[in-house]
Amino acid sequence: MRRSLRILHLYPELMNLYGDRGNVLALRARCRWHGIDPRVETASLGARIDYGAYDVIVIGGGQDREQRLVSRDLAGDRGHALAAAVEDGVCLLAVCGAYQLLGKYYVTAGGETFPGVGVFDLVTEGGDGRLVGHIAVAAEGGTLAGFENHGGRTTLGPVARPLGKVLWGYGNNGRDGTEGAFYRNAFGTYLHGPLLPGNPWFADRLIALALERRYGEAELEVLDDQMDLMAHREVIRQSRLDARRGSVRQPGKETGASPR
Ligand code: GLN
Repeated sequence: MRRSLRILHLYPELMNLYGDRGNVLALRARCRWHGIDPRVETASLGARIDYGAYDVIVIGGGQDREQRLVSRDLAGDRGHALAAAVEDGVCLLAVCGAYQLLGKYYVTAGGETFPGVGVFDLVTEGGDGRLVGHIAVAAEGGTLAGFENHGGRTTLGPVARPLGKVLWGYGNNGRDGTEGAFYRNAFGTYLHGPLLPGNPWFADRLIALALERRYGEAELEVLDDQMDLMAHREVIRQSRLDARRGSVRQPGKETGASPR
């Protein structure tokens, strides 16, 4: 029997900084290479969604103004349904702005509060200057490499488990050395890049978790990831260089590429 996985890309037109859509493309490509049929669907504001019917849900990062819309959309029933699907073991990847909204709340640097879904026991508050640069993280199962650009500083609550430990970069807040969070099969991270093409082991981990939930087994092919791993190593090298340069970027010094 040919296995298939249903992948839901949520808010694709709103939450898609630094090519975060590449995470969905990477999942689709790797599924095919593993002989799995990927069925990708998209949904956005106002959609009625049976989240639990999907195998993997992906949400990218976004600027404050898009986060405001998404926070409102997830308030109430939709947010409860998404949280229930996570309880049911659905695999979820949330990057940066989406990661913040899966916590309890995000207070912007301007003092506006966006309520979150509460999947992760964490809160985020805007701070002075943006945390920008390449980042490398030691996670359970391997190293994650990516790029971060956020004004929000995330503090994990007692129940939250970090996705990994920052090797070079800022991560959750630039203070406590933690990066991201996970709960059941839901993963939140500040890593753009996009994340999955440059960290093929992590893409396969998400696919394996999804297969396990749907089919009760998760055997995968061994793929040739040489090109992906070259990119992975290069980002780690850049993260070391960025860390050496140091310094949080101050507001106003960024160009149009700076999301808020
Ligand atoms: N607007 C949020 C912040 O600045 C998230 C940005 C992002 O997703 N890169 O912290």
